[in-house]
Amino acid sequence: LEEETEIASWTENGGLFVGTNAERLAEYKRFAETGKYFGIESHVLSPSEVKEVHPLLRIDDIYGGVYSPGDGTIDPTSVCNAYAKASRKFGGGVYENVGVSGIEVEDYLTAGSAPGRRIKAVLTSCGKRIETPTVVNACGAWANEIAAMVGAQIPLKAMKHAMVLTEPIAGMHSGLPNVRDHDLSVYLKTQGDSMAIGGYEQNPEFWPDVDPGFAFGLFELDYDTFGQNLAGHMQRCPVIEETGIKSTVCGPESFTPDHKPLMGPHPGLRGLFHACGFNSMGLMLGGGVGRELTKWILTGSPEVDLFSFDCARFHPESVASSRWVRDRTHESYAKTYAIVFPHDEALAGRGSRKSALYDELKSRGSKEPLDYDLYGACAESGLAFWLVDQGAYEEGAWRLGEADHPDIPKHQSHEYLDLVEGELTFDWPASHATVAEECRAAREGVAIFDQSYFGKFYLSGPEADEAVQYLCGADIEGKRAGSVTYTPLCNSRGGVEADLTVTKLQDSAGSNYYYFAAGGNTATKDLAWIRKVLEDQNFKAQIEDQSEAMTLISVQGPSSRRLLQSLTHSDMSDESLPFSGAKHLEIAGHPLLVLRLTFVGELGFELHTPAESAVEVYRAVQEAGAKLSQLEGIPVRDAGYRAIDSLSAEKNLRHWHADLSNRDTPLEAGIGFTVLSKLKRTGS
Ligand SMILES: Cc1cc2nc3c(=O)[nH]c(=O)nc-3n(C[C@H](O)[C@H](O)[C@H](O)COP(=O)(O)OP(=O)(O)OC[C@H]3O[C@@H](n4cnc5c(N)ncnc54)[C@H](O)[C@@H]3O)c2cc1C
Repeated sequence: LEEETEIASWTENGGLFVGTNAERLAEYKRFAETGKYFGIESHVLSPSEVKEVHPLLRIDDIYGGVYSPGDGTIDPTSVCNAYAKASRKFGGGVYENVGVSGIEVEDYLTAGSAPGRRIKAVLTSCGKRIETPTVVNACGAWANEIAAMVGAQIPLKAMKHAMVLTEPIAGMHSGLPNVRDHDLSVYLKTQGDSMAIGGYEQNPEFWPDVDPGFAFGLFELDYDTFGQNLAGHMQRCPVIEETGIKSTVCGPESFTPDHKPLMGPHPGLRGLFHACGFNSMGLMLGGGVGRELTKWILTGSPEVDLFSFDCARFHPESVASSRWVRDRTHESYAKTYAIVFPHDEALAGRGSRKSALYDELKSRGSKEPLDYDLYGACAESGLAFWLVDQGAYEEGAWRLGEADHPDIPKHQSHEYLDLVEGELTFDWPASHATVAEECRAAREGVAIFDQSYFGKFYLSGPEADEAVQYLCGADIEGKRAGSVTYTPLCNSRGGVEADLTVTKLQDSAGSNYYYFAAGGNTATKDLAWIRKVLEDQNFKAQIEDQSEAMTLISVQGPSSRRLLQSLTHSDMSDESLPFSGAKHLEIAGHPLLVLRLTFVGELGFELHTPAESAVEVYRAVQEAGAKLSQLEGIPVRDAGYRAIDSLSAEKNLRHWHADLSNRDTPLEAGIGFTVLSKLKRTGS
């Protein structure tokens, strides 16, 4: 950018993290190791080495630090000027003091007769109407207002976020690195001979009444809120106690429930893209977000894996719950600098979405009731977290110091918190023994998983066969009704946008239709992707979301067939229901669809059951399992998501977004077997 515009905005003054406990230093060492992979130079430092790098810091209470000399500082004014200059150079325009006053959308029907909505035009405060199929919502703290113009919702909250610029400090100079003390939740950035100091408070200030006219303004600093940070600044850099404050910067900024931006196409509204929710990282992330969003708009997919930023990572029901968004955003803000442990669990907003089996599992005293949560996935199964709706919600809020919950006693035993804290380790978490038992049941007997959070979609229509063959990397053409196929859905570069199972079924009139089962965390994105492809290719087919209406009880393990055979007259043998086969049958008098599939590498069956019959089907499975256990000593038990993770990793089965993504082709990701026969047969 500097080369193109001759505007300098980057100062490479380095970055220094200091840690005040052993776990933090362990986290920093992990950062340093990860940095090597990305070619980022960093050095783990002893306390005295920290002092050499930044002589103004107090070091008698630290364990050490990590120093990255290539880190630095972006000057916001210069970088914005550089972007503006560069955009003009390439034919773009910058128009100041013109507001978007409205956005026109239109309804339409796809070739498959599915109803759709798309962007038509933007209305501006100067009276000009701009016809366009594409709008990018990059309005920061005002992004909700833009979304509301088209009846859309996004999980974003505006807050007042602050930092303070100190008077000049003796010994400060522009070569000293920016400092973060994550344990004190503060940063101290170099600004010539001064410091810009800020942090993340436990009690951040929301900005609920966002003022559309508040542009380029600042709020008055609330020292009651910011005071928490000042205590940390003075502890880390004692000279600050005697230093005056030159100015304060308290500005509007947008925050999200997981402290990551909102990017990409808005599900259900064609042409609306988001680039907002920067969680006080917009300067750092803006360049990359802009680059990838351009590719997303032009080609339908970014070139790097941006699922963590994709606005479709949130379930629409969570997005629609203002309380969930607020509480989780509050927690994420307060935990900005918390150590991220491998099994970190959020406290706020738990239990807002639940499986149809939730109450049943809880009443059985099970430790695995499913709490649909962030990303629509179950975050609690497999753990001894069962107090979701017995106060954990409020405890979480109390922990964050929310004024809404002043009556919650602070010094009594909080079982949920104790359980959560048992997970906060880089070592084996407290739940490890439970997960191990679940894994053993899956390998030696039967494990019963509630995977109801999966996305479940039906694709039908006169061109359903052609549409599925086009969508799927695997060869579906010629497959018999009653077959299940694990397949990637690829983008135009061959990258894997989704991996899921497709079951071919036939209705009473002999027409084929298809049942898609997709991972819960990606279900919203996968559905949007399928809808877009159907529409772009003008297929006379449509896809219907039945995720909430169906549950998925997965019965896995070497004795799973015997267990299920005892519940049905339908033949469950290998001949009648081979691997990758499907059939309709009845259990406990309830019709359901059984797929013979496994994601744990065992003999296994998925029971896709209407939600209203889920409890009775589950009870029947449990009773049959109890008999097997009593008579033959076979281990049969409920199991959860961590067991699935462990079991599937043992068998080298892939997880989308972890082991393969939109930037890997099936061949690169080691699932070439899914696409080779189609490639050989059709050449594409
Ligand atoms: C105290 C503080 C410290 C920070 N420190 C850092 C840091 O160290 N590193 C970092 O990377 N980031 C930092 N940030 C965050 C960074 O400033 C933001 O993430 C970034 O500015 C967000 O950019 P944006 O374009 O998304 O939103 P904004 O910069 O807020 O821009 C949104 C624009 O949309 C306009 N708008 C609103 N409604 C309409 C409408 N109807 N029509 C037209 N325009 C409209 C607004 O007027 C505004 O100009 C900090 C922020 C604060 C407040």
